[in-house]
Amino acid sequence: MWRRSCWLIGQCACCDWGNSPFSPSGESIGLRPITLQTAHRCKALRCSGRYSLRVRCSHLTALKLIRQARAASYWPPEKLRAHQEHHLRLLLEHAYANVPLYRRLYDEAGFRPEQFRSLADVKRIPLLRKGVLKAAAAHDVLAGGTDRSQCTVVCTSGSTGVPLKMYLGPFETQWQRAAAWRILFEHGYRWTDRTLEIRMTPGPSHWMQKLGIAPKDWLSILDPPLFWAQCLAKKKHQIIVASATTLGALAEAVESAGLEVKAPRLIISDSETLPPSARELVHRVLKTDPIDVFGLVEVSNFAWQCELRSGYHVSADSHLVEIDAAPGDIGPMIITDLQMRTMPIIRYDCGDMAQSMREGQTCGCGRTLPIIPQVFGRAIDSVLLPDNRRLYWPFFHEILGAQEEILQWRVTQTSAREIRLQLALLDREMDRTESIAAEIRKQLPRDIELVTELVERFEYAPNQKVRQVISHIKPAASGT
Ligand SMILES: [Zn+2]
Repeated sequence: MWRRSCWLIGQCACCDWGNSPFSPSGESIGLRPITLQTAHRCKALRCSGRYSLRVRCSHLTALKLIRQARAASYWPPEKLRAHQEHHLRLLLEHAYANVPLYRRLYDEAGFRPEQFRSLADVKRIPLLRKGVLKAAAAHDVLAGGTDRSQCTVVCTSGSTGVPLKMYLGPFETQWQRAAAWRILFEHGYRWTDRTLEIRMTPGPSHWMQKLGIAPKDWLSILDPPLFWAQCLAKKKHQIIVASATTLGALAEAVESAGLEVKAPRLIISDSETLPPSARELVHRVLKTDPIDVFGLVEVSNFAWQCELRSGYHVSADSHLVEIDAAPGDIGPMIITDLQMRTMPIIRYDCGDMAQSMREGQTCGCGRTLPIIPQVFGRAIDSVLLPDNRRLYWPFFHEILGAQEEILQWRVTQTSAREIRLQLALLDREMDRTESIAAEIRKQLPRDIELVTELVERFEYAPNQKVRQVISHIKPAASGT
């Protein structure tokens, strides 16, 4: 067992050689079991071909990655910037030399990796559109020489059409795991904490969990919420990880069954934006304020709230996140995973919108990682006004979330000039629909018609994301 999960990895003392499945020159060095690397000439020219050979268990590799990442949370900004520039340069060289999609994309745009000298040049790197990535064949997006039988394949949900297949080599699998663990450790995770994770597809269990190290109970989102609640009450989990919708259903089940549950130390909400109503419900019933984490199947989790919940810290040592808007404005998120080599993701226009970071904005927690003030989800989850301004869910929450009689709400833009407001009220006898609608109308242009409708309740399938704002108007420059 130990031998099978053990690798021999050569690692250069000053360049990236050996730290990934590919050397900077693109040669596959693989993190294959029992692979011995013996010779290396340093590309960074800061050493004279020094190298070291180390024996590592895969779990120790993950531990080292987590430790490095946590230290990076407090790096001075200039060190973080130099780190990003160095890794992006290596990634560009690798992708251009080994991945047909990037070579074609960059050749068509007249871009060469050597044109990237610092982050000031980042906008010269062509964008990778989601539609282009989805339409490409596997041999087009994978680095030459990749052994697909050694890869883990993960798929996006395909909620906007065709699912996207991501191939992760052995290193990327560890890397993505470490990126997710890092966020837990930032919030005081301990190896003895028992975790409850509720997913569509339960993840793997490990023999170490039987020894009491990182014990975890996987439950399916297809199980009844009462079953989740009973499991939580019985096993008294310290950590809960699930999507916002699932957490809301869990809290409702605990409350309606009148169960006594011990407050978990940490609740992680991911996979979808955590609406304030779900946060309040979970906090009230489970007695712990959830941490909202943002990530993508394509590149793992990369933005997360700290204990102060003042925006989302970006894991900038592992991901380069750009928001294409002036500081403080809302724009599309563009993501680069700085470590993925098997299937690189470089300047990926992921289709989600966020508020742009402000230069020099700091957080009271002391971490130096950049902060995204707000994440808004997909562009289609907003109302498009005739002057091209967009109204995102916080606008509607400001008005609707303050009304105690509203149980649920949904805003749907049916056409350029019509918005439908659906309300589920706690007590239909106390119908104040018109006065609530009048509040919203005051903020809308006069030529937008607001139609109101009372509904009993919005029901969601277990794996369905809650969408409180929906637009049937297609974004003009959709990359999807
Ligand atoms: Zn913070």
